[in-house]
Amino acid sequence: MTDRSAPQELRSTPFDDDKLHEECGVFGIYGHPEAAALVALGLHALQHRGQEAAGIVSHDGRHFHSHKGMGKVGDNFSTEEVIKSLQGNAAVGHNRYATTGGTVLRNVQPIFADLANGGLAVAHNGNLTNASTLRRRLVLEGSIFQSTMDTEVIIHLIANSKKTRIVDCLVDAMSKISGAYSLVALTSKKLIGMRDPYGVRPLVLGKLDNAYILSSESCALDIIGAEFIRDVSPGEVVVIDEGGISSHFPFSTPPKRFCIFEHIYFARPDSVVEGRSVYEVRKSIGSELARENPVDADLVIPVPDSGTPAAIGYAQESGIPFDLGIIRNHYVGRTFIEPTDQIRHLGVKLKHNANRNIIDGKRVVLVDDSIVRGTTSTKIVQMVREAGAREVHMRIASPPTTHSCFYGVDTPSRNKLLAAQYDLAEMCAFIGADSLSFISLDGLYRAMGENGRNAKQPQYCDACFTGDYPIELTDHETGAERELTLLAERF
Ligand code: AMP
Repeated sequence: MTDRSAPQELRSTPFDDDKLHEECGVFGIYGHPEAAALVALGLHALQHRGQEAAGIVSHDGRHFHSHKGMGKVGDNFSTEEVIKSLQGNAAVGHNRYATTGGTVLRNVQPIFADLANGGLAVAHNGNLTNASTLRRRLVLEGSIFQSTMDTEVIIHLIANSKKTRIVDCLVDAMSKISGAYSLVALTSKKLIGMRDPYGVRPLVLGKLDNAYILSSESCALDIIGAEFIRDVSPGEVVVIDEGGISSHFPFSTPPKRFCIFEHIYFARPDSVVEGRSVYEVRKSIGSELARENPVDADLVIPVPDSGTPAAIGYAQESGIPFDLGIIRNHYVGRTFIEPTDQIRHLGVKLKHNANRNIIDGKRVVLVDDSIVRGTTSTKIVQMVREAGAREVHMRIASPPTTHSCFYGVDTPSRNKLLAAQYDLAEMCAFIGADSLSFISLDGLYRAMGENGRNAKQPQYCDACFTGDYPIELTDHETGAERELTLLAERF
């Protein structure tokens, strides 16, 4: 295998690292002469799911080729030389935001290993909730780990499997793993896609000419002119090879629990996820929010970009004019300098600035998708007041975030979540607004086209709002998770 990965081994220091970050994006293609170029384009479309690192592994019929690097897709896959080095008709790629493992090059996916039955590259989105516990056991049995990524556990379990065919080894490995995952894997002969039995993370299947594609989101299919075929089902294993495509359901599948926060925040609004347009869902959440929490005001202003579709819905339902009162600078990236507090504070305005002319003297409704630590809302409310707003009413297009996510969303610990610490009035005082309200849980489900939340059998994973975790949290409960975090820091 050729590995042309960028040599640097940098620790990234996000400028605004007090914020939550997104999870990962995966993309794979089988049967196209420009496989690597298409994966690079697909990863560009999925860039919102992770900006920390990117990697592609291809196979040319004889050899695997790999290129990985820290930073965005464009930082790593913009030259003809790199794309040409990734030869072959099949390739898989990954955009990373670390939810497990430190930010170093060896933790960049796809992870590759030479196994008894051939080479295998694996990339996944999500979080394996017993990976540290399994890792501990594997290390005691003699496994030597090269990274602190939970994904590497999959490789070791495959290597230890007594099965013979690679797909069976993968299924055998995943039967020991709990967690939320959508993964793509590439062997010398096959592209494999797999979703966890609850279907927490998204994965879709597409087609371009004779090539099959697996992608975290449908927007990446649009970008390369591919046709959307369907969502990969929860618990499904899709195997694509010379003979075409086959589908397997090796696990028992509980009722699905897709992550509701994908609809609220993660997924791109131009994606269709689990049969629903993300943009339309966000607008309906905004309308429901307006019905539940009306306010007398002059302007509805979105906190861009994630609050925009909900703000449009709020404005349409309430009849209050919509305007862009906050402008977002799209060119603010990460920096590798460690800023002082003073510079850090200025950094807030790098990303958002008030559009003073339209705000001055107005009673405004600010709409954002979520409040996590309260940092963004506090800064935006203050910014809008300084721009002359007479009243500031904050409306949030999700219920209060009271619990951490263990399924692939990098959330702070509970004691840093504003809604886990304070009641509504205290939160309102904290962010400095004249009023604050959140959509209710039932309201959210209504906006998703349900009659409300089915308490006995919730239709989505909404653990961040309810603490109702559908998948066991083995590592968290045994403390193994903390061990891996410490290891990642030293590694
Ligand atoms: P906070 O400033 O900590 O209250 O975070 C809330 C803000 O972060 C909102 O503007 C959201 O759009 C955004 N946000 C919510 N979840 C995430 C996430 N997982 N990654 C990055 N940003 C997020």
